[in-house]
Amino acid sequence: MKILLFLALLLIPAINGDTMAQTANDLADDWDKQHISNILPSNMRHQDLKKYLEQLKKLNLKVEEVGRSYANREIFQVEFGKGATKIFLWSQMHGDEPTATSALLDMFAYLQNNRDKDWVKQLEKTLTIRAVPMLNPDGAEFYQRRNLQGVDINRDAAQLQTPEAQLLKKLRDDWSPNIGFNLHNQQELTTVGSTTNQAAISFLVVTGANADTEGNERNKRLTSVMIAALQNFIRGNIGRYIDDYNPSAFGDKFSDWGTPVILIETGALHGKDEMFLVKMNFVAFLSVLKSIADGSEKTASPANYEAIPFNGSGRIYSAIFRGANIVNPVEPVTISTADIAVNIARRRAAFIAPSYIRNIGDLLNSKGLEEFDVSNYYLVPRYGLVRVGAGGEFLFYKKTRQIDWKTPDLEKTFPPDGIFSLGRWVKPL
Ligand SMILES: [Zn+2]
Repeated sequence: MKILLFLALLLIPAINGDTMAQTANDLADDWDKQHISNILPSNMRHQDLKKYLEQLKKLNLKVEEVGRSYANREIFQVEFGKGATKIFLWSQMHGDEPTATSALLDMFAYLQNNRDKDWVKQLEKTLTIRAVPMLNPDGAEFYQRRNLQGVDINRDAAQLQTPEAQLLKKLRDDWSPNIGFNLHNQQELTTVGSTTNQAAISFLVVTGANADTEGNERNKRLTSVMIAALQNFIRGNIGRYIDDYNPSAFGDKFSDWGTPVILIETGALHGKDEMFLVKMNFVAFLSVLKSIADGSEKTASPANYEAIPFNGSGRIYSAIFRGANIVNPVEPVTISTADIAVNIARRRAAFIAPSYIRNIGDLLNSKGLEEFDVSNYYLVPRYGLVRVGAGGEFLFYKKTRQIDWKTPDLEKTFPPDGIFSLGRWVKPL
């Protein structure tokens, strides 16, 4: 009897774990425990991608080289599932937009490692998923948007001047997928609607020339499913783009060619690292794939998508120094009080990122991701002058100090009370 009870208890978690239920929170927990990507996406190179793809091959996933970049770097496609509905995803056609590449790797590893789960079985039976992680490996290597010819691959859908664009079109034309996902990163300072909330993820149902199609309606429902999943984590930080038909962009052309596309743009969220955004992508991908596989998307409402505010810009800065007493140490020395806004450039996490002054004046209606009250300090440029466009490198001196601002080598003669340089406090106030 005791043994039977013991066995029964053992079975309970097995039964629960085997149900079709798989919430966004479950997926996020699963990602925490099972993700294979362990390099920050912005630090990842083509060599790293190849190592991950070897891992996927060892899991018996189909990974094949499907083409080469302009500099002859291999471009790969990964496949999962045997179903009739064909899903195609591609990431990093802009080399410095890497988040989704990691999320795709995590997604394939997860699907393959969880094939015993009922919902994954159903997904495998219903869908065939193909993805090209890192379509622009040359751009990724140099952490630049464009390919090695200096061409924006996402504006090359009509002319097809780049090998990467030719490949992308060929992969679509040879297979005619039912749904496409175009995966990008957007500016970190993109905001949601009229708020100062960062848009951590933004969406667009890319309608192509003809907006009024069944595929576009379906994609609105699918995007609503992803939004509902993500709202568990980043409610208020989800935006969408205005649909602006561009006949040289791949999203629009794919939709015109018969593969309606959803654009997903990952931004940033202050206080969260890149891996959190990988997780958000992972949750979005698997939530939407599951809804296609189990048919639940058919009854989803497009309202979730339509209610999401459009992206905004110019409302927030990387940092604002409030009430600075700005000293420009040239003849005549000027001292004035103003707020200074600084933006920090996007670089690989491993690289130092320069910062630039973006605004000077009364910035009461703007928000800095970080804000510093420096009203008790003189703010002196570390190099040059405090001007819009100049570097955001500052020395700070307590207002009670007597300083001869024209002293050559000011920083050495009068050691400052604080130094802000390359986007961080080298010497905190
Ligand atoms: Zn992009």
